[in-house]
Amino acid sequence: MKTQLAALVALCSLTLLAHVQAAEPPIALAIHGGAGPLPKAQMTPDKRKLYEADLNKALQAGYAVLKSGGRSLDAVEASVKVLEDSPLFNAGKGSVFTYEGAHELDAAIMDGKTLAAGSVAGVRHIKNPVSLARAVMEKSPHVMLAGAGAEEFALQQGFSLVSQDYFYTQEKWDLLQEVKAEARKTSHKGTVGAVALDKAGNLAAATSTGGMTNKRWNRVGDSPIIGAGTYANNQAVAVSATGHGEFFIRSVVGHDIFALMAYGKQSLQQAANEVVMNKLVKIGGEGGVVSVDKDGNIATPFNSEGMYHGWVDKAGKVQVKIYQGE
Ligand code: ASP
Repeated sequence: MKTQLAALVALCSLTLLAHVQAAEPPIALAIHGGAGPLPKAQMTPDKRKLYEADLNKALQAGYAVLKSGGRSLDAVEASVKVLEDSPLFNAGKGSVFTYEGAHELDAAIMDGKTLAAGSVAGVRHIKNPVSLARAVMEKSPHVMLAGAGAEEFALQQGFSLVSQDYFYTQEKWDLLQEVKAEARKTSHKGTVGAVALDKAGNLAAATSTGGMTNKRWNRVGDSPIIGAGTYANNQAVAVSATGHGEFFIRSVVGHDIFALMAYGKQSLQQAANEVVMNKLVKIGGEGGVVSVDKDGNIATPFNSEGMYHGWVDKAGKVQVKIYQGE
């Protein structure tokens, strides 16, 4: 009897050990393509397929990095580059037009492990602004470079410049005419971003945008502002935002979610909801965030009609969603 019991105990501990050894550290990825490049009323099944295909492609690019043991920084950059290269979103190719009919792009990236960060604002000739933001982080002593200086730095770093025509799409041109005709001041839609947790437990966030249609005077939004549209800190969370940037800057959205978690001991879901569904709503800030915490939990609240987004959770399950209630 005693020997049987001992054998059983030994077997149980072996099984337990095997389980512990088999348990891989969690990885997770979430991306967004903005708080609604297309309103629900204009969405058709065919168009939806196109958006979903590019969102899936971006998820796959980032997830492949994480799955093979790569860094969250590489994953968010890979996902964002896919979305920048897609004409459907307001970042890289397909960026919206300024009042003067030009394109001025903003982007940022942040490493949750070291709190290193890089960002660029108002660049006009950079195909993938997220990669330039990364170069600012890794190859310059600065965090944020703007305008012509950022492009001079890009040339020094071996980036090739593209002409403004590269960013052109008919849809975004028509949108500028619409916004001007309706005497609307600006319109925001379609910024892209990604957040990730890698096997080493490191968080990263990246965001890229053409900003707002009809923007003037070298307006810069929240996306390249560290702590507002983009923030990552291994202590708690990585956040990438999309929405009406002025409100997201004033609400310091990314850092506020972090603070509610790190100092306020809230869960990711509580903190992200508090900021997006309560604090932002109170001041009229439309939009949302994608966020992942240090345990691989994901929260993607948005207070707008839609937010093009998707994620791969800890269990490897892939989801792509667009409108409220999906
Ligand atoms: N947040 C961006 C900005 O204000 C716009 C957007 O997310 O669509 O520049």
